[in-house]
Amino acid sequence: MRTIFGKGIRMPEVDKKEPLLTVEQARERVLEAIRPIAGERVSLADAHCRVLAESIVAGHDIPAHDNTAMDGYAVQAADVATATRETPVTLAVIETLPAGYVASRTVEPGTAIRIMTGAPMPDGADAVVIVEVTESEGDEVRVFRSVAPGASIRRRGEDVTAGTVVFAHGTDLRAGEIGFLASLGRPYVTVSRRPRVAILSTGDELIEAGQPAEAGKLVNSNAFSLAALAKEAGAEATVLPIARDTLEDISAALVAAAEADVVVTSGGVSVGDFDFVKAALDGLGARTNFWRIAMKPGKPVVFAELRGRPFFGLPGNPVSCMVGFHLFVWPALRKMLGVEAGRLMRPEVTAVLSGPVKSSGERRNYQRAVIAWRDGRLVAETKRAQGSGVLSSMVAANGLVVVPEGTRHIAEGESVRVQLIGEIV
Ligand code: AMP
Ligand code: MG
Repeated sequence: MRTIFGKGIRMPEVDKKEPLLTVEQARERVLEAIRPIAGERVSLADAHCRVLAESIVAGHDIPAHDNTAMDGYAVQAADVATATRETPVTLAVIETLPAGYVASRTVEPGTAIRIMTGAPMPDGADAVVIVEVTESEGDEVRVFRSVAPGASIRRRGEDVTAGTVVFAHGTDLRAGEIGFLASLGRPYVTVSRRPRVAILSTGDELIEAGQPAEAGKLVNSNAFSLAALAKEAGAEATVLPIARDTLEDISAALVAAAEADVVVTSGGVSVGDFDFVKAALDGLGARTNFWRIAMKPGKPVVFAELRGRPFFGLPGNPVSCMVGFHLFVWPALRKMLGVEAGRLMRPEVTAVLSGPVKSSGERRNYQRAVIAWRDGRLVAETKRAQGSGVLSSMVAANGLVVVPEGTRHIAEGESVRVQLIGEIV
């Protein structure tokens, strides 16, 4: 195996006669070749659902001061040590402190400051008596319960201390992270640039959605599902015009597609008379890494380096195409975005089959399924029609049940491995 270095991609050369790769071997080869993309500075609001491309160190403590967790009275705990409902302790209220202000007075023995949640603890006080166990009377307060020193105080730095690395490079920024970054006073952050994915559908049979139906033609749905998947993965999709099944048309389209960061095609990678994608790649001097994987659906999946760009040639059958994307393109895009190795794929879970599953048994079979919680356990309901052309089997499918190579039948109620491809709802 020889190794070449291209623009951001390292691609081993392979012998095309070698046996089919397992999904794991193929994915490993893909990931070996992928390099992280550069970062860009964006406003915090725009960073939502992006991937952090810097590590974030807390510049200050959170909370910045000791403050009260409750509405009540800041006191010296020793003053109210004997307080009960029958024997209340009376304190002089010397100030009222809303959140957002600092006390001007110090709490001395026999005194209290009325204080609202979030307000910084006044000097001299070591506890807060909650308002519910007090009774206010003019400039005084009667306290009916003792408190331990430190009661109802949120300590400075309790959440984060200055200097702590709070987020590593590669963190997915969701609502929680965005809010936290705001609390650290970061109006801008560096996130990975969205990889630009060129999507190219090949096939003489294709018409665009909205064009009048014609005998023998079908709608180019792959462009839409692939663009949607690329966006879900955090990339930016550009859909190119359909390439017709000629070497010239596909070659020209591939040259245009290679302007993007990643190229994804559908169709034309099998062994049919009009499958020109592999020949076009060869003609353009691309390095093909692999083109066959021991899986069903989606055996022919080409991975190559095209003009320094990662190239994925997915099969045309709409289901194979999407499954190929989930298994290989998804983790590649996530790696480009800087996500760490353990989180490139969505998780794999174990679920119980709601009905029996059949497979031809030769190659590992990925069966589309709906995965849901039922009576406290995850249940996988595989779609009835599992043909690689049955796009309706992808509707609402959030998991791929993994039927191992050699297995022809799995009974209802058995536990199976499931690769999630969407959220469990
Ligand atoms: P291919 O992999 O090129 O042999 O395509 C296999 C089959 O997938 C074709 O016969 C079409 O039925 C279907 N197909 C190919 N490309 C698309 C596409 N862009 N959208 C929807 N179906 C497609
Ligand atoms: Mg075709």
